Amino acid sequence: MAKSIEELAAAIRVADEFWNHYTNGDKTTARFHLFRAIIELVNGSAAFEAQQLDECYVTSSELADKVAFLANAKPATYNSGRLNQEYKLLLERLDALQPSLEQAAKKLGLDVIPVIHKEANAGGQGKQSIYRLLATKVNTSELNIKSSAEEQSASSDPNKISYYIESLPKLPVWTRWLQNINMTKHRWKMVLFTMSPIVLIIICAIIFQLSSFKLIEPQILTYLTVFTMWYVGLFLLCFRYLIDALNNNITTLPEMMLPLNLRSAVLQYELNEPGSDNGRIKQLTIKVFAAKCPICGYRVDIKSVGLPFRTRLIGVCNNNPIEHRYTFDFTTQQGTKLS
Ligand SMILES: [Zn+2]
Repeated sequence: MAKSIEELAAAIRVADEFWNHYTNGDKTTARFHLFRAIIELVNGSAAFEAQQLDECYVTSSELADKVAFLANAKPATYNSGRLNQEYKLLLERLDALQPSLEQAAKKLGLDVIPVIHKEANAGGQGKQSIYRLLATKVNTSELNIKSSAEEQSASSDPNKISYYIESLPKLPVWTRWLQNINMTKHRWKMVLFTMSPIVLIIICAIIFQLSSFKLIEPQILTYLTVFTMWYVGLFLLCFRYLIDALNNNITTLPEMMLPLNLRSAVLQYELNEPGSDNGRIKQLTIKVFAAKCPICGYRVDIKSVGLPFRTRLIGVCNNNPIEHRYTFDFTTQQGTKLS
């Protein structure tokens, strides 16, 4: 995959760029120690310096030592079985993070991203397998990211913040149905479901009007009232975000709908271009927006903090959630510091 030592060097630069901006909570897990270990070992190897592409690999014992060092663990912690397990987890995670890696490549003006590959060693090193760092070509021309010069000027201003979209981790079962609902197909179902409490209240009111003509038994009216109250209450408790999303095109999902390692995600109605034949709303999606705090460098998550911002979504720093707050415009992915 890496055709030349230059491509491999580019992949290492992309990996470093990605790493410096990666702020997710799983950054300190063993799978990412494995990621760092391979990058650092290959980058510092004699084969890499001597431009011997075929020799740029890491044996599992070298890797195990380095991972244990990065994880502050005993050297024996990572036997080849454990290493293989972490390797598989890392591959899954890097697959999901491909958009972030492509963004890092684009930012540096490069067209490769790093890939890690394990092979059985044919050479005479006993039963050890070897891990290679490879580079794979990507098409970064379509990515809409500012040039590094613009990015620099933005990041040097502590009052301005740029958000980026992070790939979604695996969502809980009760959240997955909301992922990418095609609104051309399911428009009426979604609108009717979102509006169902109001529809039910209107039906109730009509039936109460009819009851003045003595057409309906009082007991049925009691059942109906109790049912309506339960339904509306439950709906507001469980699906309130659907109403907010329909009103504002974007809202945050309640924490119980997110996986444990994720602090915030938004539910967004993506719109068609103005004047499109397919109606206004294209689809309902879940996205994770995040940023690096320009003041302290910690991760900024999108939150709905309530008063005094009411339904407004803002960026809140994990390090100083009171003072480091930023506006959040999902259309431009930019924001400024709130005073
Ligand atoms: Zn901060």
